[in-house]
Parts: sequence; C-alpha cells; structure tokens
Amino acid sequence: SYPIDVDTIRADFPILQRRVGGDISTPGEDEDDTVPLVYLDNAATSQTPKQVVESIVDYYYGYNSNVHRGIHSLSQEASVAYEDAHDRVAEFIGASGREEVVFTKNTTEAMNLVAYAWGLNELGPGDSVVLTEMEHHASLVTWQQICKRTGAEARFIRIDDDGRLDMDHATELIDDSTKMVSVVHVSNTLGTVNPVADLADLAHDVGAYIFVDGAQSVPTRPVDVKEIDADFFAFSGHKMCGPTGIGALYGKQEILEEMDPYLYGGDMIRRVSYEDSSWEDLPWKFEAGTPPIAQGIAFAAAVDYLDDIGMENVQAHEELLAEYAYDRLSEFDDIEIYGPPGDDRGGLVAFNLDGVHAHDLSSILNEQGVAIRAGDHCTQPLHDKLGAAASTRASFYIYNKKEEIDALVEGLEVARDLFA
Ligand code: PMP
Repeated sequence: SYPIDVDTIRADFPILQRRVGGDISTPGEDEDDTVPLVYLDNAATSQTPKQVVESIVDYYYGYNSNVHRGIHSLSQEASVAYEDAHDRVAEFIGASGREEVVFTKNTTEAMNLVAYAWGLNELGPGDSVVLTEMEHHASLVTWQQICKRTGAEARFIRIDDDGRLDMDHATELIDDSTKMVSVVHVSNTLGTVNPVADLADLAHDVGAYIFVDGAQSVPTRPVDVKEIDADFFAFSGHKMCGPTGIGALYGKQEILEEMDPYLYGGDMIRRVSYEDSSWEDLPWKFEAGTPPIAQGIAFAAAVDYLDDIGMENVQAHEELLAEYAYDRLSEFDDIEIYGPPGDDRGGLVAFNLDGVHAHDLSSILNEQGVAIRAGDHCTQPLHDKLGAAASTRASFYIYNKKEEIDALVEGLEVARDLFA
C-alpha cells in the first residue's frame, strides 16, 4: 500500500531497531520497560542508512587525506571523490556541474554566504529584500540583520488563513526597489509548498535575484533548480539521509563568478603575494580551508541512496503519510492543525492539543517512544502570527509507516487524559 518498499528501506537504518525510554534508575534489572522508537522528527534531522555510514568508514579506513594539494595516492583519491561529490549533488538538483555547487556546513551557512558576500556589497538604503511570513530563522534573521547593516528594507509576503502565500501581496511587494527575494520552498512549520517558480518570475521581472530555501524540499521531492529558475538555492545533507556538517549552496555560475569570496584563506586562492591575491575557480573560491571531505563524500552517497528509491516515490510516500496524519489528527475537535489541507502539503504536520503545552505533550509522547518536535521550529514570528507560543510537529520520511502515526495518535489520547 506504500509507493516504496518501506520494510526493505527500514532494514538499511539500524537505529530504527532500537528501543527508548525505560527507567534508568534501575540499571541491570531484568524487566524491560523500554518501547520501540517511533521516529517522527525527520524535518529536524533524518536518519542515516548503512550505505551512507559505510561511505564514511570507507573514507577513513581507506583514503583519508587532505584534498586538492596532494600528489600522493591518498590525496588524489580523496580529491577525486570530494570533487566528484559536487557533480553528483549538482546532478541531483539539475545544476550544470560542480562550478554551481558550493559545499557549506548547512542551509544556514549557505544563506549567510550569500548575505555576506553579495548582500553587504549590493544592498543599500532604498533597496528592499522580500521574504515571506513563514521564513525559517535561517533566512529571516540573516536578511533582517543584513538589511539593518545596509539600510535596506525587509518586507514580508503575507500568508492567508490556510497558511498559503498571498500572491497578490507578493506582486505588490516585489517592486523596482527589490534586489533579493528569499523564500522557503516547503515550510518547515506549515508544510506549505510555495510557488517558487512564479516567485522567481516576479523577482526577475524587476531585475531581482531569488534565493530559495530548499531545506525541506530537496529531501522530499524532485527539485530542478533550472526549472524553478532559482538564482540561489540551499539545502542540508542531514535532512536527506546524509551526515551533519554538510550542506550545499547552488548559485548560477555567472552570478557566483561575479561574487566576492565569503571566507578567505587556503584552498580558495590561485596566487598570493604580500600585496594581493587572486581566487581559485568555482566552486573552490567559496570553500576556504580544509573542507568537510568525509561529509561531502557521504552527501553524494546519500543522494545515490535517494535516487535509487526515486524522488517521485519519496514525494508520493511523504504525501500519503502527511494526508493520513492530517486526517487522523482532524478527527479531534481539540486539535488545531496549522497550514494547508492534508492533500496539499509536504510531509509534516504541526499542531496543538487544547490545554496541553507542546513541551508536556512531547514528554508524554517520548515515554511512549514517539519522537516529535515541540517548540517554535525556528519560526517565532510565524508562531506569534498563529497565536501559539509553540507547537508540536510530526514529520515523516521514507521509513515511516501509518502504524507510527497511529502510535502518535494513541499517545495524544494518553496526554489528553493526563492533562486536559
Ligand atoms: N530552512 C528550513 C525550512 C529548515 O527547515 C531548516 C532546518 N530546520 C533550515 C532552513 C536550517 O537548516 P540547517 O539547520 O541545516 O542550517
């Protein structure tokens, strides 16, 4: 009944076999009061399959070495694998090649790279940066602070009652003063899938760039940056079966060529004298110092893993689970769900149960092995707008099953009995 073979996939993720909970004050006692893990916190970080972990082990056991400057065999092998990983990630998102993909620590760093290297130079009084009310702090705080430093104005596209962007308002806000439109592709709180290609058209009509935050979209659906016509696009490895410490910034080659470096140092230079320096080719110009070599190689392994499943299938699975969760949670009058209807959202559902704080709910669920996120999900202004200090978010990935959503709903019933 699933678009993908969930049981086969689950076998690739040893962590899903573990149990959690139990009374740690009585170690060694026979009684096993632990429960199976139900991992529904995938929008924060996905789990890592054996194939990806093995790529890291292979690197450290087989050819660990610094890249780019070595003549010896290990360095050559590491360089080829690390550089090829850029091509592999580029191919995955429809970029033309490694020159358009800079490896960063995560989405946040990719956003800051553009804000510092482009924003500080190009923005000034009279300019505007257009964001949405549903931006993650990664883009909201970054552009807000760059605007403060440059005198540019930050504007926010409104959302409607269903958590969708008001496109009339977008058309109004994006005007001749606009130099950058920075929008989240799939909202990590509302689950809204934004019309980023339409927003790209609006941006380009006034000569502005568009930066798409793909942290929740690249892991969960097919993405083609050229089809969107994004100027910049960012995502994180740890949300798509990859390790932490690695993410990517896509940028159109001609824009990246024009941009100054963000970090200076070794590896990013071509020629240095005491007086001046020149820069290495793309993407290395933006990767100063020893890069995250193992993580970059493992990032490519994660992309291979997802490609084997097929991103259309991943998307279908996400949508199936999102709709199921939405429907199950909608059965209760005392649950408020945020964002668009169940058949029109990414694979996550944020909600509140009347009379129970999200953190209390999360602790009760944790006792039952259900891992979900409670808090503001790095969207504080959006939560203010929703009139909620916090919310509880369940988010799904390729190894989740409907039974796990049933476990979540059972947990909610326990919490209701305890608190409400
Ligand atoms: N944008 C969105 C929409 C996200 O969901 C996240 C992760 N919560 C980020 C940006 C930031 O990602 P990272 O922490 O990997 O930089």
